[in-house]
Amino acid sequence: MTRTSAVASETLSYCTSCKMDLNHIIVAMKGDKIAKVQCLTCKKEHVYRAPKGAAEPQVAKASKAKKTAEEPEDHSIEIEWEKLMSSHKDLPVKPYSIRGLFGLGDKLNHPVFGDGIVGKLIYPNKLEVIFRHDVKILVYGGVSQTHA
Ligand SMILES: [Zn+2]
Repeated sequence: MTRTSAVASETLSYCTSCKMDLNHIIVAMKGDKIAKVQCLTCKKEHVYRAPKGAAEPQVAKASKAKKTAEEPEDHSIEIEWEKLMSSHKDLPVKPYSIRGLFGLGDKLNHPVFGDGIVGKLIYPNKLEVIFRHDVKILVYGGVSQTHA
């Protein structure tokens, strides 16, 4: 049997202790979803978290914050936001403007939502921005075109 999702089989998961993607043993399943895993490196059991992709930068976590935006876990966005803000604390804050040009990881200030970090660029002219209490999709001037 080589099913990838079954109790006692191995899976790649993000380890909340080691803070990286590592091989884990599945400890518990919930329906067909992995509920709990044990890290093979630190031996700790924790809730399953999808691997993040080892080489991805901080802002990659933004897409995760987006997913949890629909769940009653608002404070996790705030924690993420605080992490992002402190890891980008040396960046200047750009005032948000619909004609502005923004890049991944840019800090911006929105008149309604406050300070946020660009977590994702959505082609051709949208930004996914992590604000303190929510993740918002904002329209902006568009990417600086490669075929300009
Ligand atoms: Zn671990």
